[in-house]
Amino acid sequence: MAAGALVYAESSFLRPSRPLSVLCSKELLAGNQPTYQVYTLPMPTLPKIKVTPRGVNRLKQGHVWVYRSDLLDADNIAPGSLVTVSDKRGKSLGTALYSSSSQIAIRLIASEPVSDLGKLLRQRITQAVAYRESIVRDTNAYRLVFSEADFLPGLIVDRYNDILSLQILTQAFDASPVREAVTSQLTQLMNPAAIVERVDARVRELETLPPRSSGLLHGEKTSATFTMNGVHFHFDALEGQKTGAFLDQRENYAAAAQYAKGEALDVFCYQGGFALHLARVCSQVTGVDSSRPALEVADQNAALNKDHFQREEIEWIEANAFDLLKDYSAANRRYDTIVLDPPAFAKTKRDLESSLRGYKELNLRALKMLRPGGVLITCSCSYHVSQSNFLEMLSAAALDAHRTLRLLEVRAQAKDHPILLNVPETAYLKCFIAYVSD
Ligand code: SAH
Repeated sequence: MAAGALVYAESSFLRPSRPLSVLCSKELLAGNQPTYQVYTLPMPTLPKIKVTPRGVNRLKQGHVWVYRSDLLDADNIAPGSLVTVSDKRGKSLGTALYSSSSQIAIRLIASEPVSDLGKLLRQRITQAVAYRESIVRDTNAYRLVFSEADFLPGLIVDRYNDILSLQILTQAFDASPVREAVTSQLTQLMNPAAIVERVDARVRELETLPPRSSGLLHGEKTSATFTMNGVHFHFDALEGQKTGAFLDQRENYAAAAQYAKGEALDVFCYQGGFALHLARVCSQVTGVDSSRPALEVADQNAALNKDHFQREEIEWIEANAFDLLKDYSAANRRYDTIVLDPPAFAKTKRDLESSLRGYKELNLRALKMLRPGGVLITCSCSYHVSQSNFLEMLSAAALDAHRTLRLLEVRAQAKDHPILLNVPETAYLKCFIAYVSD
């Protein structure tokens, strides 16, 4: 080691940096060999940003964001820069990615100094892949990298069999060297047939990034089939909503199928995630969505799986779910299983009240249409609607519908979309399964 070199433990995120000498022997004995980043003095100097005591507090609580209103000075800092964050006295709090346009101005990526961003990104991607290897079962489609929850703020990568679908959400991740580090590490670890970038035009606009089209970053393949819980799906990398499927519901599909029975209605069915799982155990399944392209794929998915269905056909209905539920309940239609998985009604905190009205209307109608002993699977993917908001809404709907609900399962997003305890924004999906009686 060069004279005067400093060594920092880089084994974990948000742990205060410790000199090598204080690494406890237990860690080493346990075989958790940390990796070391060697910095040769002088350390490369990154632009510095000072933050308010409120910003300091947020970071000390384990959060990774500092809002623009909590910056003390960020003049002349280039968009997407790697920066050192400090309190007003100059004491360092870590290293972050800076956005010049987002209200989330700072996203911490390490509590230590970072001299080689490419190396850090490669380590983080390796850790994200290792986490999935240990917790994901029964699927070849799952989220490989989930932004802040994997300490890669601004990067989402989903795996669909041998195709990776990637989304870039921040200025820092849009920079060419960062893109290259990400794609080369993903290629090395996963050996995918292709990597496709899905561009969200609105996100690029908010980050003041130049427009860009979705397309291939590596390889040529753009379609595949994937399997989750033994159910098969078509995947077209350049079509569909999100990166292609709602992977966050994977474990909830399997849970729903454990209780589902009889005649089932899957409302907001998209490409049939719940409906295809229910068709294995239910005597009849109807899926409802307002998107015709989604229903066309749902029908193709049904054809892939029909050998395992109770009844060969699933009925797909293109309709506005609110209108259909109103008409069906007025016509006294009855079901044994109903799934409600609407899009996020509350995009911001301000939408909370109106979104709860929307959720209540749907849940009230569904509860009225369930036969005694029926099962309701009801979801919300709005971060701004908390679990207690949603439960309160459901209690009120049960009272109004004169039904008794027994909660069978209180669920969230699949584990490949990790919930980082000190970053509440990483927890967004709620899925309750309830037994409904008179
Ligand atoms: N349950 C699905 C995901 C649903 S996402 C799955 O597991 O894959 C929400 C779906 O609601 C989208 O497919 C969207 O097309 C549909 N949608 C949005 N507004 C709607 C409305 N008013 N009526 C019916 N469908 C709607």
